[in-house]
Amino acid sequence: MSLVYFASARVTKWKFDDSMPGKLERLLDEINLSRYFERNEWVAVKTHFGSEGAHRIVRPTFIRKIVDKLKYLGAKPFVTDTVRIKGLDYLEVANQNGINHLSVGAPVVLADGLYGNDNILVRAGEILGEIAIATLIYDVPAMVVCSHVKGHINAGYAGAIKNIAMGAVSGSHRQCGWKCGRGSMHTIGEGELVWDEEKCTLCFQCKEICPLDCIDFKENKFTFDNEKCWRCGRCSRVCPEGGLILPGDDEYFMKSLAEAVATVLTTFKKNKAIYINFLTEIQPECDCMPAADVPVIQDIGILVSDDIVAIEQASVDMLLKENPLPSSLAADEKISPGEDIILSLHKRPYNIQIEEAERIGLGTRKYKLREIK
Ligand code: SF4
Ligand code: SF4
Repeated sequence: MSLVYFASARVTKWKFDDSMPGKLERLLDEINLSRYFERNEWVAVKTHFGSEGAHRIVRPTFIRKIVDKLKYLGAKPFVTDTVRIKGLDYLEVANQNGINHLSVGAPVVLADGLYGNDNILVRAGEILGEIAIATLIYDVPAMVVCSHVKGHINAGYAGAIKNIAMGAVSGSHRQCGWKCGRGSMHTIGEGELVWDEEKCTLCFQCKEICPLDCIDFKENKFTFDNEKCWRCGRCSRVCPEGGLILPGDDEYFMKSLAEAVATVLTTFKKNKAIYINFLTEIQPECDCMPAADVPVIQDIGILVSDDIVAIEQASVDMLLKENPLPSSLAADEKISPGEDIILSLHKRPYNIQIEEAERIGLGTRKYKLREIK
């Protein structure tokens, strides 16, 4: 059984200690960072920088608290993510969303370089073969995985597993391209995009969102650059008509997420990673989408653990106890109190990612919750 520390988002006393930043400090004291991190050790604080329009990320004020605690120990933290759009633009997004050296108190760097191809091929498992892990994640000895819990169109639920599986792996590799990148989780086989001309209204949203300018509509016929395309699936996700499909399979995707996490964690020694899940601003979609909708579930709080499986199970269990928020997508979808909101929103068997992570030995779904008051 693993220990998961929890602090509620509710504030009942008007004191800093009862605020969420204050409670995060206390959670980090409870887990005792000195058990994991050492003086002068470089520590990656892995988060998601969001997008120009998706502002509901882990707020810089929390990242600052983590950085300050690590520095107090004498460790050398830096804040990082992998390239999701062109690298220079992504650093600007981070800056715009308040994540910069001045605000978080540590260097903010791209884990796989400005071009997103600074990565190292590592043998994965039966599903993925080999994957390209961002060089900084590969090299750094220790990591704090800082995840914003929310829904996700493909994963259903997105927390620490998704943050590491997709976020520590690059979009492509110099030799094997997208096939060793995170696109290999999104799709199976060659993963060629399928365009349905009948459904397409030529709104060009797919073309606008493509981070690599892969899509074109010459004489109103869809074309995409098969070699360059990362298979990120963003074009398919934003299509309002269901006119663009990236072939995939839910079970394959969920299991491949777990396998990617296992591969990333092989580059760390035991007890060199801890996980912080923020169950706040729980919106329906990923932080990489062009916009962030209002939350579908009320803020719950912050969880901290050294077991990625336990923290994910505890997060899901907490989500399951909540009611859908009015005036949100959950209300639009007429989701009733007591229903599994995340499952109802995306119809994805999200539990598979957690079950598979346990099956391959990444942790246990049995946990004990220790709440700090
Ligand atoms: S999957 Fe779509 S959005 Fe992603 S790189 Fe390929 S064409 Fe662009
Ligand atoms: S987003 Fe969909 S409807 Fe719009 S142009 Fe692309 S395929 Fe057509």
